[in-house]
Amino acid sequence: MSERVGFIGLGQMGLPMSRNLLKAGVPLTVFNRSRGKVDQLVSEGAALAGSAAELAAACDVVLTCLPMPRDVEELFLGTNGVVAAAKAGALLCDMSTVDADTHRRIAAAAAERGLAYLDAPVSGGVSGACDATLAIMVGGSAAGFDRAKPVFAAMGKNIYHVGPVGAGATVKLINQMMGAICNLSVVEGLVLGTKAGIDPALLAEIVTNSSGGSRALGGAASNVLARNFEPGFTLDLLQKDVSLAVAMARGLGVRTLAGALAEQIIMEARGRGLGGRSTHALIQPLEQAAGVEVRGKG
Ligand code: NAD
Repeated sequence: MSERVGFIGLGQMGLPMSRNLLKAGVPLTVFNRSRGKVDQLVSEGAALAGSAAELAAACDVVLTCLPMPRDVEELFLGTNGVVAAAKAGALLCDMSTVDADTHRRIAAAAAERGLAYLDAPVSGGVSGACDATLAIMVGGSAAGFDRAKPVFAAMGKNIYHVGPVGAGATVKLINQMMGAICNLSVVEGLVLGTKAGIDPALLAEIVTNSSGGSRALGGAASNVLARNFEPGFTLDLLQKDVSLAVAMARGLGVRTLAGALAEQIIMEARGRGLGGRSTHALIQPLEQAAGVEVRGKG
């Protein structure tokens, strides 16, 4: 591919995603607010931009992966923002998990400059980002999607064009809400089993091979049993996603009772200082209430 790609936001996800672009031979320019991770990629062959605006002015395709909606909006629409700085004909694409309205506002400003914009949130976690097996759900024009597809293919395996701008974000938020609800069942099952005297590793194995099994259980069990709560994906980011999903449902007049419950339980865990821990730390408040710890024997 000859188009120069820029990547802004080299965090848990953006760093391995960028690395996979380099591995695929994509000409890459990078920028991140803090410097250490940028230096790693430069030593691997990426060009370094001094600011987001400098990157936008130098690249044909601009990708971003930032934490919160306000970060994304500020980066694209703020002073020295990506939309104002982008070169004519550039394709802009945000891969963060934010709400559809944020994407629509950015897309409208981009369109005033004749620039195409896609929302392309991802799923699969840090391991999916490292292995280039992410699911990527895209909103925007078919022409923009076709242009970005070779870039996405270097980072992901299951790549979907969902609909107009915001449609990718809508699917991603629903996925996050469904995943969080599954997490609640895992937390309650593992704590209950431990309190009842069952080996939680054996419980997790049996349920995995039974009707209560889920991807959420597979992801959580090994980390909880090993007492590994290093992020990965933080409870702060999960709260953002579930709150955005519940707000979307409220706007559409759809009841999402379990989603709202998940939001409250995540909020409780964050209130106990666990926001910067991995989502598996959701189990800790219930462990404390029940007076048990879910731990593997080894
Ligand atoms: P992170 O906090 O690890 O990384 C964000 C990066 O963006 C940081 O390096 C930060 O320095 C940089 N940054 C923030 N604002 C910036 C700015 N204005 N200019 C330049 N750089 C800036 O977050 P993450 O875990 O990589 O998540 C990023 C997004 O991807 C979030 O929206 C998250 O919900 C989503 N996501 C995360 C995961 C996961 O497993 N971590 C999985 C899927 C989706």
